[in-house]
Amino acid sequence: MDPEMDRKMDPAMKDRYSRQVLFKEIGAEGQQKLAQARVVIAGCGATGSALASLLARSGVGMLRILDRDYVEPSNLQRQTLFDENDARESVPKAIAAARQIARFNSEIVVEPHVADLIPANVDSLLGGCDLILDGTDNFETRYLINDYAVKNSVAWIYAAAVGSYALTMNIVPGETACLACMFPQSPRGTVETCETSGILNTAVNLVASIAATEALKFLVGARSKMRRTLLSLDCWTNERAELAAGSLQRRAGCRTCSGDFVHLAGEGRPHITLCGRNSVQIHERERPVNFDEMSIRLKPHGNVRHNEFVLKFWREPYEMTLFPDGRAIIKGTTDTAIARSLYARYVGS
Ligand SMILES: [Zn+2]
Repeated sequence: MDPEMDRKMDPAMKDRYSRQVLFKEIGAEGQQKLAQARVVIAGCGATGSALASLLARSGVGMLRILDRDYVEPSNLQRQTLFDENDARESVPKAIAAARQIARFNSEIVVEPHVADLIPANVDSLLGGCDLILDGTDNFETRYLINDYAVKNSVAWIYAAAVGSYALTMNIVPGETACLACMFPQSPRGTVETCETSGILNTAVNLVASIAATEALKFLVGARSKMRRTLLSLDCWTNERAELAAGSLQRRAGCRTCSGDFVHLAGEGRPHITLCGRNSVQIHERERPVNFDEMSIRLKPHGNVRHNEFVLKFWREPYEMTLFPDGRAIIKGTTDTAIARSLYARYVGS
């Protein structure tokens, strides 16, 4: 270890990260860089949980965790930052993640945001960070991140897992192709989802391990060691493929690379059907909800329960989860018209 760096590092930090500092590609200097790094985890489901856990334990100084959803029992098979109590209490994933991380690394800063990443909030939620990691479950949000990253020259790492299959790519603006170079159209329809194919927690942890390692390389300044391919691995069939994704593979006519940021310019999307669930999200941005008052109002119409983060309202066959900013997730339908009318009737039009 560099003797000067050795003196600078405080003893507790030296001990906590000693095994990682011994790994000479990181060393004390790399560890200091990690302590100063700021990383966004966009989406904290299975992949996001694994990414956040690995980077928090590695000592990344600040993690901003974004997620729009709350913990449910079916998440526990693969979403490693959550427990049964989180599912019972419907704790928002970003909050549950921050609480769990504080139990194993209280020395880093975790900034949880219970929010849906949309064009209107992309600057505030992704701004001011060194790297963005993909924990999302949909291409709409990934294209939005890609537009933001290319426009602002911020690196991001695409990561996806479904079934036993994992897919990942590093996007370093100026040095590699972008997501839209490789996938000009969202592969929706041709690609399976967690709902139809299920998912192995091992595929999730595989893709998260690869993406988190690439993140460490980026953050300690080992950029020449970063992979410049779109990598796919199937941990059940052991099939593996790599597609070159360096700057030479930048696609002529890629809208994003030519500065046409259609996803950033997109209008807010008021109704979204969530992946992997029989539910619709209503995105209301201008309707702060007082949970105490709302509970009294809803009581005659069904069962209602709330904590400081979410209010749940059951009216057969639907279940509505309301967030303090007025956003709602309505379970029991994929029909946006039904969801909209339930919201209008019980919350407001
Ligand atoms: Zn491109």
